[in-house]
Parts: sequence; C-alpha cells; structure tokens
Amino acid sequence: KPRLILVLGDQLSTDISSLRMADKERDVVIMAEVMTEATYVPHHPKKIALVLAAMRRFAMALREDGWTVAYSRLDDEANTGSIPGELVRRASEFAVEEVIATTPGEWRLIAALNDLPLVMRQLPDDRFVTSPKDFADWAKGRKHLRMEWFYRDVRRKTGLLMDGNAPAGGKWNYDNQNRKPAPEDARPPKPPGFPPDAVVAEVLDLVKDRFAGNFGQLHPFEFATDREQALEVLDHFISHTLPSFGDYQDAMVMGDPWLWHAVISPYLNLGLLLPMEVCLRAEAAWRAGKAPLNAAEGFIRQIIGWREYVRGIYFFEGPDYTSRNMLDHSRPLPAFFWGSETHMHCVDEVVGQTREHGYAHHIQRLMVIGNFALLAGLDPGEVHEWYLSVYVDAFEWVEAPNTIGMSQYADDGLVASKPYVSSGNYISKMSDYCTGCQYDVRTKTGARACPFNLLYWHFIERHRDRFLNNPRMAVIYRSWDKRDVGQRKKIVDDATDWLARLDTGEIV
Ligand code: FAD
Ligand code: SF4
Repeated sequence: KPRLILVLGDQLSTDISSLRMADKERDVVIMAEVMTEATYVPHHPKKIALVLAAMRRFAMALREDGWTVAYSRLDDEANTGSIPGELVRRASEFAVEEVIATTPGEWRLIAALNDLPLVMRQLPDDRFVTSPKDFADWAKGRKHLRMEWFYRDVRRKTGLLMDGNAPAGGKWNYDNQNRKPAPEDARPPKPPGFPPDAVVAEVLDLVKDRFAGNFGQLHPFEFATDREQALEVLDHFISHTLPSFGDYQDAMVMGDPWLWHAVISPYLNLGLLLPMEVCLRAEAAWRAGKAPLNAAEGFIRQIIGWREYVRGIYFFEGPDYTSRNMLDHSRPLPAFFWGSETHMHCVDEVVGQTREHGYAHHIQRLMVIGNFALLAGLDPGEVHEWYLSVYVDAFEWVEAPNTIGMSQYADDGLVASKPYVSSGNYISKMSDYCTGCQYDVRTKTGARACPFNLLYWHFIERHRDRFLNNPRMAVIYRSWDKRDVGQRKKIVDDATDWLARLDTGEIV
C-alpha cells in the first residue's frame, strides 16, 4: 500500500526526514496550500506569496525527480482548507492508512497531526544543528539558560571556528567589536532580486485577489523562490557583505533596509538553505582571508547560537510560552503598528520598511519596534501576533522566543538577562532616524521630548520592584535615584501624560 508523505510549506528541503523515509515508487507526496495556514494571523502578502511560490517550485522539482505529488492549490474546489482535512481527503483518494511527516515547527500543527484518524509517524526535523532533546539535556539542572553557554557547546560539537579545543583567535565572542554606526560613504550592494516568472506571477495574482486587505505591499516581489536562487543570495552575501557584517550589524540607515545583512532568514526557515552549509561558507571565507574573524564569528553565532537556541527554548518551554506576560503589560497595539501616521520617525521608518518589504533587520526589530512596545507596556500577546504576521521569515518557533522572550521580557528573563530597553540616545547613535523627527532626542521633558526618553524612565520606575536587584540594572537605578526628586517626577508625569494621550489617540 502507498503511504502519504507530508511536506509542509516550511519543509522544502530534498533531504528532509519524511522524504528520506519515503519510497519514490510506492508513496505519494502530499503538499497543500490551505486557508487555515494562510490566515491563522494576517500574514504580510509577500510572506504568503513567498511560501506558496516556493512550495509550487519545490513540488515541480520533486515531480521532475520522479515523485508522485498530490498538490492542492489554494483555489482548488476540492480543497478542504486545512492540513488535517487535506490528509484525510488524500488518504481516501489514494486508499492510504499511514502518513509519514517531519514534525512541524509549531505546537499548533503538531497537535493537529496527532489528532488525525490515520496512522501518523512524525519524524524528527533534523535539518537543525541541535535537536530539542540536545537542548533539554543541556538545560537540565541549569539555573540560567543563557545563549552564550549553549553557543559554546555547539561550537565544540560542530568544530566551527575551533582550533582544536580552543575558539579560533582565542575568544568565543567578538561582539564588542560589532557595534559601529554605518560609515557616511560606504554601502554594500543590494542583495540579488529575482523578477517574477510565470509560476511566481500566478501566485502573486492569487495573493492579490485573496489577501489584498492584509497589511503589507505585495509588489515589487523579488524574493528567491527556489534553492538555486537562495544560493545566489548566499553567494552574494559571502562575497560582498560578510566582510563588514560584524562591524555594522547594529547600524540603521534611512531608506536602506538591507545594509550589511544576509537576508537569508526566509530561505533558512523554509528549508531552501541549511544552517550548517551557511556557516561552513562563512568559516571558509574567514579561513581564506576573505572576511575578518569578528564578522565570521558574529554571523555564525546568529545561526548556531541564537537560531538553534530559540528553537530549543520554544520546544523546551511548551505551548503556553506565547501567552506569557510576566510584566503584566496590557496596552493594545497603537494604529501606527499597522501603518497609520506616527510622529516618531524611527518607528515610522521601520514600520514603513516592514510594510514595503516584509523585512527589518534584528536591531530594527529589537531596539526600535520591540523597545517601543516594551517601554509603552504593550500587550505581549498582541506584539507576538504582530511579529508573526508582518515578517516574511516569521514562523512561531523562531519568532515567539525572540518576541516574548528576548524583546518583551514576558518570560521573566528566561531568554534575556535584562530587558532590552533604551532611551532615544541609542537610536540616535546607531541610526540617522532622529534627523528630521518631530521630537528632539536631546530633550528629556516637555512636548518635544523624544518619547523613548520619557518612556524609558517610566519603565524603570514602574518596574522598580522587579529590576532593582537585577545586577545588570543596579547601576541604572543608582544613577536615576541620584537625580533631583522634582526632575524625576517631571519625567514620569510627562511620560504618564504621553501614554494617556496615546491611548485616546490625541497623539500619534
Ligand atoms: P542576519 O542579520 O544577516 O543574520 C543571519 C542569520 O542569523 C539570519 O538569517 C537568521 O537565520 C539568524 N539569526 C540572527 N538573529 C537571530 C535570532 N535572534 N533568532 C534566530 N535567528 C537569528 N528571525 C526569524 O528568522 N524569524 C522571525 O520571525 C524573527 N522574529 C524576530 C522578532 C523579534 C522581536 C526579534 C528581535 C528578532 C526576530 N528574528 C526573527 C531574528 C532576526 O531579527 C532575523 O533572523 C534577522 O533579522 C533576519 O535577517 P537576515 O537574514 O538579514 O539576518
Ligand atoms: Fe525616534 Fe526619538 Fe529619534 Fe524621534 S527623536 S527618531 S522618536 S529616537
């Protein structure tokens, strides 16, 4: 009897465990574009288009390679609209009782597959460098689950950037060299873009018809949609951008969303690129003298450190992780998260860029949008849904620990050892956003004061009980408490007033 081999939209790797277990002569690969997946949050139209186009391309490649593929298009009349529904329908069509799948990257889908009235085998997703079990073994008995210690273990395990038992260059981490603002005169070339061919154009029409109301601009669409194109993006990064990636990875510049970033997260998360191959390329560039160590190490740490670590946290912490709210924040998302006007130029730039491209780099996500959300006390559940919707690389296993944990501190410091909050000063140092802003970054109180300056101290004051004894925050409280009482009161009162007027919509 044939079996159904399920390949999900973010499992587009020919070497995925479900396909490795399958028999090309006997089994039927099932791939399905379904409304439940396209609508569980209001995804950016570019994200929906990217996933559907890459799925169609992958299915075509499988067929060319001799596989039988039962492919459901979103607009097929018989489409039941959900992954379980399509599995049941196809099982009856092909008289199949058994389904082989690679475990999905979301609790939601894992549970849905477990509830099926079919024999279901969920194999581990071994495209990662570490498994959830590796993470659980590492986490066992530890008081703090800090990324840095996990990362060092993965370096030892993989041998990446190692000289024997020691880290290359003598240090594990070169982050202190990686915080430079962008130079005035140098910008790397833009990553390669791919004009839509007939397959992509058809998907774009479908997305335009069905999801026109979602936040985000569909055109122009230039993302890579197959492995060959994704490899071109990687090649471009390794040759042109990696050498300065380390130095300028935190920099932000008006009108240039890509800067020195690789823009490969969508391809890694869909499975078009694999983490180890990407890291080996960066290491080889360093060993060949084509990229400095701080760049190669900084880049590799994002992938075998942060990316593996957040996946470990997601599976270790369980399905309730996304509803954590340890700081009791409850303010709804202001309308400017969805593109309406705001006078905060930094927020306006990053939201505008997100709407246009479905992309923002790490520091824009963390220190502009995330920083504002945390300072203003926005509901972390709503913030989580926003990030899951608006970025083309957003899948829950990677997005949630970054948002709930790293950015919003809603997991009570499991991921972040201190909250990622800053006043306007940090944004001013790392970007050119403050030029032309209606607020003044140097002003601390009054109507023109940068809201980040006001809200920063409001945050510090309103969470005094929680953070006063945090060793990384003590110095901040000491300097705040040394200030004149009247000055402190004025700042907190102005911040309270600003938030009240934000709530009424009086200020934007
Ligand atoms: P580069 O800066 O060039 O980095 C290279 C690669 O490292 C990335 O492609 C990515 O795969 C990996 N990486 C870097 N930082 C992280 C990180 N913190 N966690 C996991 N992987 C990382 N990344 C996602 O892939 N999907 C998300 O939904 C997502 N949501 C985020 C939400 C918030 C609030 C924050 C602060 C970060 C989020 N990130 C997410 C991490 C990071 O911002 C993106 O991976 C990165 O911006 C992708 O762009 P790039 O490929 O140009 O990355
Ligand atoms: Fe953002 Fe404040 Fe700078 Fe305006 S002044 S761009 S609000 S940091």
